[in-house]
Amino acid sequence: MKIFLPFSKITVDLSKINIMSSLRFQALRAIQGEEKKISGYGDKKITAIFGSHVFNGRTMREFLSDEAYKSLQNSVKSGTRVERKMADQIAAGMKGWAESKGATHFTHWFQPLTGTTAEKHDSFFNIKSDGTAIEIFDGDALIQQEPDASSFPNGGIRATFEARGYTAWDPSSPAFIMEAGSGKTLCIPTIFIAYNGESLDYKAPLLKSIAALDKAAVDVCHYFDKNVNKVIATLGWEQEYFVIDENLANVRPDLLMCGRTLLGHSPAKGQQLEDHYFGSIPERVYAFMQDFEQEAYKLGIPLRTRHNEVAPAQFECAPVFEEVNIAVDHNTLLMDVMTKVAKRHKLKALMHEKPFAGVNGSGKHNNWSMATDTGVNLLSPGKTPRTNLMFLTFFVNTIKAVHDYADLLRASIASANNDHRLGANEAPPAIISVYVGKYLSDVLDEVETRVKDKFTEQDEVILKLDIHKQIPELMMDNTDRNRTSPFAFTGNKFEFRAVGSSANCASPMLVLNTIMADTLKQFKKDVDAIIEKGEKKEIAILQVLRAYITKSKNIRFEGDNYSDEWAEEAKRRGLNNFKTTPEALDAYVTEASKHLFYSNGIFTQRELEARHEIMLEEYVKKVQIEGRTLGYLATNHVLPAAINYQNTLVENVKGLKDLGLSESAYKAQLNLVEVVSKHINGINDNVEAMLQARKVANNEPDMHVRAGKYCHEVKPYFDQIRYHADKLELVVDDKLWQLPKYRELLFMR
Ligand code: ADP
Ligand code: MG
Repeated sequence: MKIFLPFSKITVDLSKINIMSSLRFQALRAIQGEEKKISGYGDKKITAIFGSHVFNGRTMREFLSDEAYKSLQNSVKSGTRVERKMADQIAAGMKGWAESKGATHFTHWFQPLTGTTAEKHDSFFNIKSDGTAIEIFDGDALIQQEPDASSFPNGGIRATFEARGYTAWDPSSPAFIMEAGSGKTLCIPTIFIAYNGESLDYKAPLLKSIAALDKAAVDVCHYFDKNVNKVIATLGWEQEYFVIDENLANVRPDLLMCGRTLLGHSPAKGQQLEDHYFGSIPERVYAFMQDFEQEAYKLGIPLRTRHNEVAPAQFECAPVFEEVNIAVDHNTLLMDVMTKVAKRHKLKALMHEKPFAGVNGSGKHNNWSMATDTGVNLLSPGKTPRTNLMFLTFFVNTIKAVHDYADLLRASIASANNDHRLGANEAPPAIISVYVGKYLSDVLDEVETRVKDKFTEQDEVILKLDIHKQIPELMMDNTDRNRTSPFAFTGNKFEFRAVGSSANCASPMLVLNTIMADTLKQFKKDVDAIIEKGEKKEIAILQVLRAYITKSKNIRFEGDNYSDEWAEEAKRRGLNNFKTTPEALDAYVTEASKHLFYSNGIFTQRELEARHEIMLEEYVKKVQIEGRTLGYLATNHVLPAAINYQNTLVENVKGLKDLGLSESAYKAQLNLVEVVSKHINGINDNVEAMLQARKVANNEPDMHVRAGKYCHEVKPYFDQIRYHADKLELVVDDKLWQLPKYRELLFMR
């Protein structure tokens, strides 16, 4: 279209001005002009700010009466409800503290099955019946709220006539103050349940699993130490993430809509020089880290480490481990804080498992163990034969639990995002196995071969001493640490490495706690049965351990989990390799899983089935959104750029022809015209076919079948479309290309 500008008397050809492509260049220019935000701790000590926004033991002492303080501490310790009359007092103290910090609002903070956290802010401010204003926050407001929450995932648990949902205070996780701009809000960690008590979140079943494990583990501890009254599961997570410039991210619809790139040719340089891992942290990212760390410290999140990860623009942070309930809260809270603080720095923090093809994705290692109230880490090899038998008991039971419920553990980390990582030779495969290292393998082999049905006093002594003698070496020799294992013993804890970076840790942790609780319960029954026959306790324990070692042998693997040989070997062993989420999720609803969850009081039938449905639906929605976004990107960004470029080529060829030149003069251009046409057709045909496949899938009423269709009939088009689009990116004139390229996203900041 040509338009005539009356004043300048110049005709402008609008098709020559590519308005859209300038967005990319505007973004690139913006980075250059970006004022570098300087952050830092100044002369602040971390200890001076740590926990300053948390209603912790110290502030409770200050703001609560002695009676209220004791009542709260007591219910935290014993996991019981706070008395109603105490709740008013605690609420008043909490409000006093929050106001002294400048908070004006409060919210029940919860973790619905959307994968993010939810808040609904209410003001302390209220109007009395006589019209006067007061500030109020009483026990009722603290204990329970009814958020207008009919639009959270519920998997059919709530029909509209019973759409009420409740949040209920979890006193075992401390209240905290969240800052956003100059606003401050008192946040009360809560569970989220339906009107009839069915859980609609991550926290409620996690708390149940913690209680189940506590009971089962204490019972087993009593074989060794009668003084143990409580066992808590501990979690130390390691969070991987990418950081890119926000200006660039904003002009990539795929990053905005899906948190990952759906297109983009890999840059000439990726991670092959291996120059990023532990390299020096870029200044802009460093400022961001220092800023979010300070926010984290105020919230009592005990961050310890930060470093570059393997891929360009990839980083990691990790705290000191905590009780699993608090560690889960802290991880979800931190992801939120990081997202917010990144904005201040005009950066974007990507928690997605696979934001960029061709470079590593992000995981979240979950380091898990159990600790007693007597201060013993149950997965730490002991110093005496007796404590070593205790260690061996919990160690072998963990392996047995993972063996018996490997598919369920796999299901607990399944998501559309994580499917891009597992088995892609950068993360553990989708096959669950356990790595224990050479020394402990030898110990287990020894127990297996040397424990007899009947043995002499002397056998017993030798055996115990041998176990004891061997284990300490493990602590010194970590050289054979296997980085490819999905579930590895690392000296005093197990590290579940297959968890996705954006996941809520509660999902794998509640499964791990539950399968461990169940296995320990069975262990106790098995040991007691032998003791009842008149056998000595230690011998009974060793005999059951031997049996468990034999039974769970095929889950142990010490070799390279990334290798093809392992996939074959695992198949021979009968271990499953569920590569996609829809098939992995089936493990939630097998007879064995149902029995596990029902008998340990973690989920009811309706809760479990609803959860399965929600996870399938989430998968479908994620892939659907990606499909739509990809279709849009290909049609509205890639094709116009390609056609534009092709037009230029055509004009060029025509011009050369008009000059009377022979075909050899424009051979290359003609060839390019053809190449571009081929890929334009490739995109067009595949986008159309993908659309049809989506329609077919959407018509499928059964969510399980629909998820399968999205997985096997819609998703494969993504690769096809991407292939053609990425080829076009390589040939089309750079200035016509509208989407920031990988080299810009990954290397510019
Ligand atoms: P890496 O795997 O990178 O070598 P580290 O050995 O530094 O990591 O530890 C990783 C995480 O394991 C940290 O968060 C640490 O606090 C946690 N961790 C250490 N001991 C335990 C434990 N007993 N229970 C749970 N987590 C633990
Ligand atoms: Mg690790």
